[in-house]
Amino acid sequence: MVVSEPVAKLQALVRIPTVSDRDQALVDTAAFDRLLAEHERLFPRLYDALELTRVGSHGLLFRWAGASDDQPVVLMAHLDVVPVDESAPWQHPPFGAEIHDGAIWGRGTLDDKGCVVAISEAVERLLAQGFTPAQDVWLSFGSDEEVSGTAAVEAVAELTGRGVEPWLVIDEGGAIAGQAFPGIKPPVGAIGVTEKGTTSVELRVDGRGGHASTPARNGPTARLARAILKVDRAPMPASIPAPTVELFRRLAPHAPRPLRPLMANAERLRPALTRALVAAGPESAAMTRTTFATTTLSGSPALNVIASSARAGINIRVMVGDTVSDVIAHLRKAIGDKQVEIEILEQGEASPVSPFDDEAFRLIESTIVELFPEAIPAPYVMMAATDSRHFTAICPRVYRFAPFRMSQAQRQAIHSYDEHIGVDDFLLGIDWYQRLIERLPT
Ligand SMILES: [Zn+2]
Repeated sequence: MVVSEPVAKLQALVRIPTVSDRDQALVDTAAFDRLLAEHERLFPRLYDALELTRVGSHGLLFRWAGASDDQPVVLMAHLDVVPVDESAPWQHPPFGAEIHDGAIWGRGTLDDKGCVVAISEAVERLLAQGFTPAQDVWLSFGSDEEVSGTAAVEAVAELTGRGVEPWLVIDEGGAIAGQAFPGIKPPVGAIGVTEKGTTSVELRVDGRGGHASTPARNGPTARLARAILKVDRAPMPASIPAPTVELFRRLAPHAPRPLRPLMANAERLRPALTRALVAAGPESAAMTRTTFATTTLSGSPALNVIASSARAGINIRVMVGDTVSDVIAHLRKAIGDKQVEIEILEQGEASPVSPFDDEAFRLIESTIVELFPEAIPAPYVMMAATDSRHFTAICPRVYRFAPFRMSQAQRQAIHSYDEHIGVDDFLLGIDWYQRLIERLPT
């Protein structure tokens, strides 16, 4: 089979297992070194014409000087991937980058080496044509996105130090999403305009411990269990944020007939729509409020020993409109037990909402319509976290969108098994970045 040049480039990068880890000692840094060398080999014009600053351990920040630096643009992606669960039933080797059924299979094809190569290839092509962008274009490729590392933070610091205030930032997140909503046929060009914040707390109850033959009532484990149940039974108030209202308004004409009036009038019917989303299941409920998931639990290490300390970790996704301090106050009130300590382990606020009615958003939107005429572009609230959240400190227009068609199955394969990208979809993604760069405002 004849493989086109950009496809071979993506295959080459997918075959290098750049798995990040929170513990830097467990990272195969040689793999990252190889990836950077390979990237340089594959995109010679880019390295020749753009100015490179290294950020973090293996992050890359490039500046492509444009005709103007008034409205700089940052295109983001990340070089690292999540690990592969050896017992997961991958149909094709996860680092093989094999082509089957018109798709390239492997870890990172969608998340996020597809974007790395598509952005780099678009730049490489434009350079080959002697093109100069109307505005400065920065490429920010992190190397530790999957472990909430520092490469993107350093990229932001570098830009700040140089007095660069981006006009527009685009990172992974949304996609040309097929089967995005039940009953809606056309794919949605889902553009993330904000993302939930990730915060984690630990609940802890301390006691005397002792021998399991003489238990007292209401020991640490029982108290902790009661606290967990109370949190489970006291969800945060639900509502529908403005981007979701706009999403529904845009999807309404394509929805099943009985749903159309509700979606078209989402603004006015917010309370009813909120109740419907909460009732429809955990995924749609998560669109309406801050969520709590009790994830880790620990008590006594032995069957015949009473725990002297019982602990539970709660992973919290903070909805736009709530703050971490609102959430902690809610937890304290819901638990209502002073003996349950609440310690914040990590703290992340929801990102500010980027505008979805201005020139930058319309540029993304119209480029989607041009390349994917079948899709309905729309803003949405992202549930997961991306590196782009760090850029909200220096740019009011941060959008999360990868220009690839992704079916529901493909979206579910991200961070799971059988991750793959359609060859044609990947090639169209390159065109999308190219058109976007060509259309930057003068
Ligand atoms: Zn990613």
